[in-house]
Amino acid sequence: MLSLIERSGIESRGRKYVVDEHLKICNICGRGWEYVNKRLYHVDYIIYPIGTIPKIGKEKLPCPQCGNKHDTE
Ligand SMILES: [Zn+2]
Repeated sequence: MLSLIERSGIESRGRKYVVDEHLKICNICGRGWEYVNKRLYHVDYIIYPIGTIPKIGKEKLPCPQCGNKHDTE
């Protein structure tokens, strides 16, 4: 499953929605994430496991999970 997301699962079929420029790195949990089209993915954002997204050149921004609950947990 991880390798599917990383390699071709999302970017195939001519939908070039997933581009490096859209990816961000959470500076709290360290995972890569991005906002996505909810009509396509049924979620507001995708968070990738640590290690699947190279951190170099990515914008550092807390992911929605960390940003939403940083003062509760
Ligand atoms: Zn996070």
